[in-house]
Amino acid sequence: MTASFSNLSLAEPLARAVAEMGYESMTPIQAEAIPVVLTGKDVMGAAQTGTGKTAAFALPLLQRMMKHENPSTSPARHPVRALVLLPTRELAVQVAEQVELYAKYTNLRSMVVFGGMDMKPQTLELKRGVEILVATPGRLLDHIEAKNAVLNQVEYVVLDEADRMLDIGFLPDLQRILSYLPKQRTTLLFSATFSPEIRRLANSYLQDPVTIEVARPNATASTVEQHFYSVADEDKRRALHQTLRQRGMKQAFVFVNSKLGCARLARSLEREGLKTTALHGDKSQDERLKALESFKKGEVDLLVCTDVAARGLDIKDVPAVFNFDIPFNAEDYIHRIGRTGRAGASGLAVSFVSNSDGRLMADLEKLLKSKIELEAIEFEEDAPDIRRQGRINDGRRMYAADEVPDEPGVAPRSARQPDNAQRDGARAERPPRRDFSRPPPVSRDPFFDKPYEAPGEAAAAPAWEPTSPRPARSISANIKPRRRVAALFRPETETS
Ligand code: AMP
Repeated sequence: MTASFSNLSLAEPLARAVAEMGYESMTPIQAEAIPVVLTGKDVMGAAQTGTGKTAAFALPLLQRMMKHENPSTSPARHPVRALVLLPTRELAVQVAEQVELYAKYTNLRSMVVFGGMDMKPQTLELKRGVEILVATPGRLLDHIEAKNAVLNQVEYVVLDEADRMLDIGFLPDLQRILSYLPKQRTTLLFSATFSPEIRRLANSYLQDPVTIEVARPNATASTVEQHFYSVADEDKRRALHQTLRQRGMKQAFVFVNSKLGCARLARSLEREGLKTTALHGDKSQDERLKALESFKKGEVDLLVCTDVAARGLDIKDVPAVFNFDIPFNAEDYIHRIGRTGRAGASGLAVSFVSNSDGRLMADLEKLLKSKIELEAIEFEEDAPDIRRQGRINDGRRMYAADEVPDEPGVAPRSARQPDNAQRDGARAERPPRRDFSRPPPVSRDPFFDKPYEAPGEAAAAPAWEPTSPRPARSISANIKPRRRVAALFRPETETS
């Protein structure tokens, strides 16, 4: 039996907002958590992002706060009653956007505060009064210390993505924030995994919590079709091209382990004719925002990224995630593939495993508690062997869409200009263009038989499908237009 929102007897403005969202039934975390939160009990929830957990806590909290709802303009009538803490600005913005949607027909006010932005506009908004405050810990402490945020009437606290907050080192900040709050309150803690540290946090700050585990901790979403291909390092790009083409995929995330590897791979794929952008810690804030925006708009097909840079991205329902490198930290596998197969949609996660990945794969098997079967990849006969590349005339490398380098990331951009190519008479020496017009074989999953919703008005067909017709133009319901923020990601810790 599927759980329906109508069984919840939500207040009319909330029920209206949910109906407008078009949700047909509750997701498992919602079906389990909402009735418990409605009773006011503390909850410890194991749920990954993409399971619908924001609504699982936001809707019952809003419902409980409806008794305080009032149209007064006086700030005193709108004290902070619910505090939602998240590890990154990006996640905070995402959650605040969802809360705003669910509360849109009520007089309950919500806002988000995060660092890297001028405090003044946030201060002004806080001083006008707000019932639901979504925040990252550092900036919230700044506002508490400046007496902009008064938290003595807080009734509900949500520690969302608690494992990430501890990873980042927010424990002291969380402890300080929690010390400012009334003892009598409801505390909800959500985490993708229940590590011993998370359990300790829960023991200290939750009272007799109801534990809700909709997916086994450390499990990957069952809607994601996962493949592990045994591929030599030098064949990985070719394997990527082939998988994209065979599956008819339009957009994908490609994860690599280092900033340098990320930049190099993005450049190589770009040269190979794929519209690619890189997202890693050495990119400026502006470059990151631009990379993200162009992926969302569909101007690029591949987002090549590192774990740190990709954390908290609000791009949802990406049809495929590639692990070009097996992650150093097995838990990152779960976070990476959590980018696809969200909220019940099906997704594809393809990992390329090379001979040197034995230890990382053993870690992953331990985490997933299952044996991973490696599959062999069969390259199509007419697929180009992108390793076979030569030097041209003067020793400088010349690349075009159908030419790629042996070593990634060595050609200067100018070497790819058609003018140079013509001047050097290189055109005649190029190998024939790749034929990407062959129809892809019938896929196993019906999801892949219908076109992926184009992510934006300007979305063009992906580079690996140059002749395919454009799908219907619409903005994916799951890729929301976002406010610009000054900075998106947590402090850098990645390697290069
Ligand atoms: P979350 O895990 O909260 O980040 O939610 C992931 C996505 O699922 C968001 O885009 C939500 O709008 C969407 N979502 C939440 N609840 C439901 C539901 N009951 N049915 C369909 N989609 C949902």
